[in-house]
Parts: sequence; structure tokens; C-alpha cells
Amino acid sequence: LVLASNNPGKLREFAALFAPFSIEVVPQSAFDMPEAEEPHCTFIENALAKARHAARLSGLPALSDDSGLCVPALGGEPGVHSAYYAGNEGDRDSRDTRNNAKLLAELARHSDRRAHYVCVLVLVRHAEDPQPIVAEGEWHGEILTAPRGCGGFGYDPLFLVPSENCSSAELTAEAKNGISHRARAFAKLVERLRAGI
Ligand code: IMP
Repeated sequence: LVLASNNPGKLREFAALFAPFSIEVVPQSAFDMPEAEEPHCTFIENALAKARHAARLSGLPALSDDSGLCVPALGGEPGVHSAYYAGNEGDRDSRDTRNNAKLLAELARHSDRRAHYVCVLVLVRHAEDPQPIVAEGEWHGEILTAPRGCGGFGYDPLFLVPSENCSSAELTAEAKNGISHRARAFAKLVERLRAGI
């Protein structure tokens, strides 16, 4: 299975999620392929585009993850623009830092700080698969007023997990992988594969 992502944070989390299964998972970087275009305004459309792109260029079944943080007070932004919310200059770490600063600035004039992560997983058996397997997970929390913790990636230092009273960057990798949007979507994907859907 080729994993249609170059995001090291996602790849780490998938490596742990796939660990109990005897499936050989290869990141798309092993095929030296260009990034897929993600021009769409929904997670599902972008996830489909990424999975088909990786399957086409690798000749393997492909699993994609399109995910992001949705903030109702901001009309759902950053949403599908989460990765490049504050522009596409710089490396991944500097983009994440600028994204978090922009999110804090945008939310400064709002009292409603609710937010949720969304993860849409799409598995295609081949590039033209007419029946992709789709699974979605959400993780609800709030946006903190300052970053906390150094685990995870992306918006994790700002995402308060109410049940744990800490940010998702303060959770251990195992704890995050037990309750995150990605873990929930992955559990549904496995359920669907087991049911032969
Ligand atoms: P994508 O690669 O287009 O799916 O963009 C995903 C972006 O959403 C990441 O670059 C992060 O900014 C954000 N994101 C998705 N999942 C997570 C997560 O688990 N923690 C923190 N940020 C996330």
C-alpha cells in the first residue's frame, strides 16, 4: 500500500496505526512522485485526488489522508487550507508556526473558540477504482490562547483536548493515536475492510 502523503507527522502516526497489521506500507516519497494538486474545497475531493494520483504513479493500491482544523467562528477555516493557511513560503515547521500565529490572531476577536479536526481517508485499489473506500473521523476541542507542548505536528500545540485538559501536543504519541480524528477514521476504515465493504 502506498501512503499518499509527504507529511512526516502523518506518516509517523500511520506507521503506528498500521503496526498491528501485516501490510507493507510505503510512503509516496519512495516513488519520487510530485505532490498531487489539491484544488478542491472539500476534504473528500482532495483525498480522492491524492489517492488516485499516488495509485497512478506507483501502480499500487493507495491510501490518502486529507485533514485539517475547522473553526466554526471562522466559517470553518482553516479547513482544507490548514496546511497553507498563512501562505506556502518556507519549510513545514515555519509554515506551522505562521499558521498557528495566524489562527491566534484571527480568533482574538471571537469568544467562541471551539474547533474540530477532520480526517478523511480514501483507499483506492487502483487509480481508476470506481468504489474507493472512504472513512471520516472528527476530534472536537478548543483553541488555546497560547501554544502548549511540543509533540504532534501542525496545530497540535493550540488544540485543547477537553477530556484530557491538555493540548494535543502534550499527549504522548500513543495517547493521540488512541483518540485523534486520524485514529477514528482509521478504525472506521479497518471496520469497512473487515466487513468487505
Ligand atoms: P493536508 O496535507 O492537505 O491534508 O493538510 C493537513 C494539514 O492539516 C496539516 O498540515 C496540519 O496543518 C493540519 N492537521 C491535520 N491533522 C493534524 C493533526 O493531527 N495535528 C495537527 N494539525 C493537523
